[in-house]
Amino acid sequence: MTVPPEFSRPSTSPFTIAVIGGGIAGLSLTLGLLQHQISVTLYEAASKFGEVGAGVSFGPNASRAMKLISPRIFEGFENRATRNQWEDKSQVWFDFRYGESCGGKRTIGEKIATLECEGGQASVHRAHFLDEMVQLLPDGVAKFGKRCVGYEQDGRHVVLKFSDGSTAEHSAAIGCDGIKSKMRTELLGGDNPASKAVYSGKYAYRGLIPMEKAEKLLGEELAKNSQMYLGNHGHVLTFSIEKGRTMNVVAFSSSEQWEKEDWVVPMKKEDMFRDFEGWGDSVKEILSLTEKPDIWALFNQPHASTYYKGNVCLIGDAAHATTPHQGAGAGMAIEDSYILCNLLAEVKSAKGIEAAFRAYDAVRRPRSQKLVTTSREAGQLYEFELEGSDPEAIRVNLLQRMDWLWKHDLTADLAEAKEILNKSV
Ligand SMILES: Cc1cc2nc3c(=O)[nH]c(=O)nc-3n(C[C@H](O)[C@H](O)[C@H](O)COP(=O)(O)OP(=O)(O)OC[C@H]3O[C@@H](n4cnc5c(N)ncnc54)[C@H](O)[C@@H]3O)c2cc1C
Repeated sequence: MTVPPEFSRPSTSPFTIAVIGGGIAGLSLTLGLLQHQISVTLYEAASKFGEVGAGVSFGPNASRAMKLISPRIFEGFENRATRNQWEDKSQVWFDFRYGESCGGKRTIGEKIATLECEGGQASVHRAHFLDEMVQLLPDGVAKFGKRCVGYEQDGRHVVLKFSDGSTAEHSAAIGCDGIKSKMRTELLGGDNPASKAVYSGKYAYRGLIPMEKAEKLLGEELAKNSQMYLGNHGHVLTFSIEKGRTMNVVAFSSSEQWEKEDWVVPMKKEDMFRDFEGWGDSVKEILSLTEKPDIWALFNQPHASTYYKGNVCLIGDAAHATTPHQGAGAGMAIEDSYILCNLLAEVKSAKGIEAAFRAYDAVRRPRSQKLVTTSREAGQLYEFELEGSDPEAIRVNLLQRMDWLWKHDLTADLAEAKEILNKSV
């Protein structure tokens, strides 16, 4: 595919931006900056764009943010996205059901609530979505094998240092280097407790079941449409991926500590069965059919008191890595990109960049940190740690808890951020 003209016009900005990290945050930001003809170089530690990762869901706020940056990003997502397979489930995010009987108090499989949103459950493999964005990127913008290990700045310039011994100078740098961000540690200071992610108390088994097998086991409705099975200190979710050919399984459980150094480790099936002992037969059968499972420890970042210092700024997981319980971390990164590329488009010289970062921080930090907090709570809600197992209390909580996230007006945020920027210039 030839790169669309809106991403390949010559830059007109009197400054240059370095983007550190080429995940969903870094790529969406880079495309946004190119559209505004801002000179940008993306530095990625790996030797090519990532193939690691798994399914990511996007809510309506994320779809709107994609369209606002560029309809082509949204088209790329749509090309690869899988939704619920039944037409009348097309707006359903999840059907929530009991996964266990809670000592005989509840009926296994009984529906507690159905939560709907515009577009319903919509997920994509991270690598496929990255591929779609990479196709829009002109040659030469991304540099690979560039692991940033530190930087220095003097108010006008940022000098990046890479692990291969090389350096690069730009007017500003934006850390999009994910949950283990080096840019964040440098910006906040290594001894700041907010500089590193903390274990959330939850981990997840992730695996796949071919749809034919899932359908035989669960019946068509439960196999082909997104379900969440709730229980004490655990929950299991299933949804279609690969255009309905496969059922994705994510089974969450709890522990006080995460002892291992790695956050993603191969699993033993007996550990998984032990965690879900006493659950209903259908959940146990889902787990027994799960192929290629591994365990992901779920970390999130403590709230940082700022997302910028001078001409260095953080977005995406580098700024606000969250647990996945509201399916919204990557969407938040795309929202960040929309606001930040538009603010930088207003900047007339390198001297004005810090004011754009300040306006971004003022508007984005409260919203993205609210996600980190409410996402942790959502995990507790699904695992009867917030409202117990009472169906009415859970339903009331579920049916309103995503409104602030999904129905948010991002263009109003941009207007507010521009006002903050204009006042400070
Ligand atoms: C189990 C699980 C399930 C999830 N499910 C969802 C979901 O359903 N919906 C959702 O919206 N979100 C979900 N998320 C969160 C989502 O995956 C992240 O929020 C999102 O991928 C963050 O994107 P990012 O670009 O900020 O970071 P990353 O995807 O981590 O990208 C960082 C990039 O920076 C590079 N890099 C790292 N360090 C350096 C360095 N020093 N120098 C240069 N490059 C560097 C990396 O190689 C990588 O390419 C989930 C997360 C987990 C763990």
